[in-house]
Amino acid sequence: MRGLAKTSRSQGAMELVDRERPEPEPDEALIEVDYAGLCGSDAGIYEFESAFERMELPTVIGHEYSGRVVEVGDAVTKFAVGDRVVERPIRGCGDCYQCEIGESNVCQNSVITGVDHDGAYEPYVAVPEDALHAVPDGVEQQHAAMVEPTSIATRAVIQNSRVRAGTRVLVEGPGPIGLLTAQVARAQGGEVVVSGVGQDADYRLPLAEELGFETVNVADDDLDAVRDELTDGIGYDVVFDTTGHPSGLPSAVDEVRKGGQIVLIGQTGETSMPYSPLVRSEIDLQCSYASKYEDFENALRLIDTGDVDAETFIDDRFSLLEADEAFETFIEGGTCKPVFDVSALRN
Ligand SMILES: [Zn+2]
Ligand SMILES: [Zn+2]
Repeated sequence: MRGLAKTSRSQGAMELVDRERPEPEPDEALIEVDYAGLCGSDAGIYEFESAFERMELPTVIGHEYSGRVVEVGDAVTKFAVGDRVVERPIRGCGDCYQCEIGESNVCQNSVITGVDHDGAYEPYVAVPEDALHAVPDGVEQQHAAMVEPTSIATRAVIQNSRVRAGTRVLVEGPGPIGLLTAQVARAQGGEVVVSGVGQDADYRLPLAEELGFETVNVADDDLDAVRDELTDGIGYDVVFDTTGHPSGLPSAVDEVRKGGQIVLIGQTGETSMPYSPLVRSEIDLQCSYASKYEDFENALRLIDTGDVDAETFIDDRFSLLEADEAFETFIEGGTCKPVFDVSALRN
């Protein structure tokens, strides 16, 4: 079978490679992959940012996907052939201190599908049944491919933020995680504004508006003036920084109200700033990383109810057979959540 792999330690370098169809271990199910999304971290692998130097190459990438069980190992009890499933691709070791106390998202030895072993940009993957979730009947198979990024947002908002009915929220960054965070924050009762920069003007900010959010383009609009107008000069109760950009945190400090909360989700930003304003305003600075079992279940339910609008959100214009186009468009901000039809690799 064919898989799309990262093949060398340079920019781009994605090629179709030949792979044997995997044999499931006793505790594993063999999954036939239907749809797989393109994530910011996949774009990071494409550009080969420093976070991915540990990868052994070639590795088939892709970690957010939906599929069907086509074979099960002898010890599998919870899933059967024909079940529709998604995988939790960041997995704890089960043995370290954090795993023992229920914090598997910050496991000391976690492994990630599509980074540490072959991922879902290929027709079949073998997955431990512990890492699988059943897809509810009401959720379409293509929509289920975005459960994993949605779970990052359900963790950030439901577990790690103070957002509740009436909370005034700013989400910095209209990328995939930003627009999913905005939707979950709205489902939680928040009044949500989304901000972006110049390169977001063509696709991502209009998508945010299509999803029903008020937007601010910081290249054209005065973010502070919008804040003062929308919050009576008080500032937002909660600011999510999903940008991963050096300006994200300092800007969040400007926009959050005294006594409010900043939730950091985006990564790779590096900044220096005075922190006295944070202390004197008693800002709650909270981080959110990866997701756990319950965050996946919440994500599946919010897609099922339509609170997370998968239909509007997914961009199905791209093919794994010409994946460079999807990666380049993503990096330029010309798309937000490409989802590939993986059956293109079966022929
Ligand atoms: Zn992802
Ligand atoms: Zn662990």
